[in-house]
Amino acid sequence: ADLYGETRKNSAGLEFGSEAALNTLLDGMKAHDGTALVAKPIVAVTIDDGKPTPVLSPIDGRTVVGSVSSLSVDAVDGVMKAGQAAFRAWSATPAEDRANILDKMADLLEQNRDRLMSLLAREAGKTLADGLSEVREATDFCRYYAAEARRHFAAPIRMPGPTGERNELQYRGRGVFVAISPWNFPLAIFLGQVTAALAAGNVVVAKPAEQTPIIAFEAVRLLHQAGVPVAACQLATGDGKMGAALVSHPLTAGVAFTGSTETAWSINRALAARQGPIVPLIAETGGLNAMIVDATALPEQVTDDVVASAFRSAGQRCSALRILYLQDDVADRMLEMIEGAAAELTVGDPRQPATDLGPVIDAEAKANLDRHIALMRKSETVRFEGRAPNDGSYVAPVIIELREAATLDREVFGPILHVVRWKAGDLDKVIEQVAATGYGLTLGIHSRIDETVDAIVEKLAVGNVYVNRNVIGAVVGTQPFGGSGLSGTGPKAGGPNYLLRFAEEQVISVNT
Ligand code: GLU
Repeated sequence: ADLYGETRKNSAGLEFGSEAALNTLLDGMKAHDGTALVAKPIVAVTIDDGKPTPVLSPIDGRTVVGSVSSLSVDAVDGVMKAGQAAFRAWSATPAEDRANILDKMADLLEQNRDRLMSLLAREAGKTLADGLSEVREATDFCRYYAAEARRHFAAPIRMPGPTGERNELQYRGRGVFVAISPWNFPLAIFLGQVTAALAAGNVVVAKPAEQTPIIAFEAVRLLHQAGVPVAACQLATGDGKMGAALVSHPLTAGVAFTGSTETAWSINRALAARQGPIVPLIAETGGLNAMIVDATALPEQVTDDVVASAFRSAGQRCSALRILYLQDDVADRMLEMIEGAAAELTVGDPRQPATDLGPVIDAEAKANLDRHIALMRKSETVRFEGRAPNDGSYVAPVIIELREAATLDREVFGPILHVVRWKAGDLDKVIEQVAATGYGLTLGIHSRIDETVDAIVEKLAVGNVYVNRNVIGAVVGTQPFGGSGLSGTGPKAGGPNYLLRFAEEQVISVNT
């Protein structure tokens, strides 16, 4: 079965249709040997010439994708000051001009698509289908935030008031925004944060994940090429300590963060402990995402959607399905179909078009997942395990049946699906169990009874609810993305309220 049918068909039709197109893509990868991609941490402003360390590909754990030097904690102050010095000019740049630069960036991303897909495969282990979706998502962010900048920032909003007085509300940038992004969408989330901050009139210091600095370097290079002044977008590669120094710096005017709930807590604490202006934290964190399936659901649809939700991108999406709640009347039949479908998935080199799951991000991630599976094996039932290459950090899809949902109390970030059964009449208990996790990112519901769907939606404060479909791949401007509770602060990325949180409001009242 072609389990990712839609995507594969679309990408085959649109992108990899001909043998020739595919060969060009693969040639591009070979020619691109990494040496041209040696990244300096700060582009043109404060270059910290520490010894570059190699970035190894998760495809085999050996191949050098490029190398990167880290910004030292001591250099953070200079970077922040350089950002601040660039702020006035960038925030005074008309919104229309900022938007045009972001549209230009979208064009550049499209022109560089194959090269970026190659880099996404080699540095982040992304399959070609995932790389393609990611380049498109990054492009969408640029165009969407450009349009939003025109909508909110081009002219002030006239407020009602007495005769003889003109009252206007306008949005303006806050200053130096710190953007801290994850390795699982090293292009799309990285650029989503950065372009939102820039669109709203801020300058940015962007700290990419330690695993994926090179794709971030390429993205920043393209932003500069598109017309963003060099000091208005600086790349700060480095570890958590350096990130903490950015967050705590007195010039930090706001933080956009995507990553773990634990790191969001520590950023929140650091911001609270700081003297000086009180600034916003926009955090998108993890999830313990559930899908609730009742006896009226269509088995084929459930199978497709569960496999895509749990295993696409090797389960390394914060939107991915972690716990599947199956009504027990249909559970055996559904599990048989889901396991049959999972058995068809190919795990391997992400550059091969037939690959469904590439590697997980690194050896440490693999070790954590292996440990979790070993632990579960002691008390729960491992129903299914796929096959994966031994070389590199590959993890095969796994399906584990739990005796109770509470056994899984944290997000396990990989291709591991947990299943629990529920009895007719116990829907409220299921809802309580989902609510008890404290997370609220994505939720899937498969049912053909409207009342069931409505009752679940009403009782669960989850950011993105998907009914009778899969729970991944939120589309910019169509499914604004982000959760509540332990899953984040909002506003939703790719939504109509996102840019405003990056901005300050100012009211001007003039006696005319
Ligand atoms: N927006 C992505 C999706 O809907 C997930 C983002 C993430 O994993 O952080 O699948």
